[in-house]
Amino acid sequence: MRRLCAVALGSMVLFAPFAARLSSAAPPGSTPAPPAMPRSAGPSPGSAARGARAADLVLRGGAVYTMDAARSWAESIAIRKDTIVYAGPDAGIAPYVGPRTRVVNLGGRMVLPAFQDAHIHPISGGIGQRQCALYDQKTKEEYVAAVAAYAKQHPEAAWIRGDGWSLAAFSPSGVPDRRLLDAVVSDRPVYLESSDGHSAWVNSKALSIAKVGKDTPDPAGGRIDRDPKTGEPVGGLQDSAMGLVSSHAPPYTDAERLEGLRYAVKMLNGLGITSIQDASVQADSLEAYRALDEQGGLTLRVVASLWWERDKGDEQIAGFLDQRRKYTRGHVRATTVKIMQDGVMEVQTAAMLQDYKGKPGVKGLTMVEPEALKKYVTRLDKEGFQLHFHAIGDAAIRECLDACEAARRANGPRDSRHHISHLEIFHPSDIPRFRALGVVANFQPLWAYADDYIVKLTLPFLEPERARWLYPIGSLYRSGAVIAFGSDWSVSSANPLEELETAVTRMGAGGETKEPFIPEERINLPEALAAFTINAAYVNFQEGRTGSIEAGKLADLIVLDHNLFTIKPEAISDTKVVLTLFGGQKVAGDLSLGGEGRAGLGMSR
Ligand SMILES: [Zn+2]
Repeated sequence: MRRLCAVALGSMVLFAPFAARLSSAAPPGSTPAPPAMPRSAGPSPGSAARGARAADLVLRGGAVYTMDAARSWAESIAIRKDTIVYAGPDAGIAPYVGPRTRVVNLGGRMVLPAFQDAHIHPISGGIGQRQCALYDQKTKEEYVAAVAAYAKQHPEAAWIRGDGWSLAAFSPSGVPDRRLLDAVVSDRPVYLESSDGHSAWVNSKALSIAKVGKDTPDPAGGRIDRDPKTGEPVGGLQDSAMGLVSSHAPPYTDAERLEGLRYAVKMLNGLGITSIQDASVQADSLEAYRALDEQGGLTLRVVASLWWERDKGDEQIAGFLDQRRKYTRGHVRATTVKIMQDGVMEVQTAAMLQDYKGKPGVKGLTMVEPEALKKYVTRLDKEGFQLHFHAIGDAAIRECLDACEAARRANGPRDSRHHISHLEIFHPSDIPRFRALGVVANFQPLWAYADDYIVKLTLPFLEPERARWLYPIGSLYRSGAVIAFGSDWSVSSANPLEELETAVTRMGAGGETKEPFIPEERINLPEALAAFTINAAYVNFQEGRTGSIEAGKLADLIVLDHNLFTIKPEAISDTKVVLTLFGGQKVAGDLSLGGEGRAGLGMSR
């Protein structure tokens, strides 16, 4: 099979990401240089066409890291309508400045292509911010106090719903206790999702409404946490067991989803993000995207991953085809299918090749039976869908790769750009398969440091030789795989600058840890920036239009208050996005760059 992959590689459409990976800082021993990315149409940097029509907006005097294939720097950018018409030295900008051109002096500030988040949940994240949000609390006691306060402030709420609690607060088991909630709310159901969205913490009232008791069997792909002596539910529900209770709560309304999305778009634009891949959508989310886009409020380019229901089979593919037809328009493309293949490490639901340390017989949960997965992925691949997998354990990662391999064998090599998200723990023999199969490694780099999740809930259950392969971003990079980054917000912060810092340092972006976690898996800044720009654009099939600052591309770009290349890596996350342009339009920040009245930062019309 390996030989077959090598043969297939020759005809793969691979140029963009490999070009994207090229950088002066590429480590020795990295894979041979691939063909360069074709240049965009339009005047090449530094050779402004004589007689060019004036631009609408000119940014000049900046440190523009273009993320083009050569990783070149520029000083000036000219934008006409939604498109970049020039990126090059200041010396070449004059032909683009006409009497009506707005000229902004960047004062040496850094400009980057706008960030692209390859795995995020904007709608649920936005809704969550408007419920009982527990992201800012850290301990059980703080959670309980926040729930009590929320319940008091919302006497009208039939259900107390919220999210954001950390499994680490309940270490070492990660399992929460219903009695803590009963003590503050006993007359109404309480349903609180963990920050990673894989666990729920419920009170006794919620369990009784849902009729979940000691005789309720665990559903497929889920677990009801129980008292080992009595078998009674203790208040924790894992993965599909969450639905036993959540299905009894009133569904969110269209208005709530739209408001949640509106919140997320504004927040993401403010963080410099203008493109995303929504990691799980169903029909109601697609409607929210459509509605906001029709109102002109969707200042994001969105690829929507259609949610694969794991208790159904390929009969759901017809519905995906309808949704792709109906919702691929405007700024939205419903061209991807998301399959969740396992759970999470912290509660031992991630699917592992070997038993968790100290837990004989426990290997986690495989969500889709591997042979069925091959069949479904082959079908979806044939229909032209991109696959977006959730895989955390080494067994789940292998099963997803096997499915991609089966699809390739059946359908032939295709420009499919399937990608696997999360990628927490690898068997090292699977690392080279990403490049061989053209599968993109979609990491959430903010997780790759020794936080409580790793130290208290993961390392105790892995032998050291297995733990060496936690989030091996550097190894994947050196193998020649395409690396893309996403936040998984609202699981984690959506701020790409925090994620970039952790990718480079393998330490907490807030200074939580002082030692890099598996330091050989760090990557350098150009590689990390590529993962959040041109490579994420590649995952979204839009690297021809976005992801770098080149003439002919859309003017999706950001201005930062510091040059990331001239500050210490530990300061990357302190950097602020001061301006975000989406198709040439300002969607966050201020074109005066906060410099009104200051010499050298003025603008003219
Ligand atoms: Zn996710």
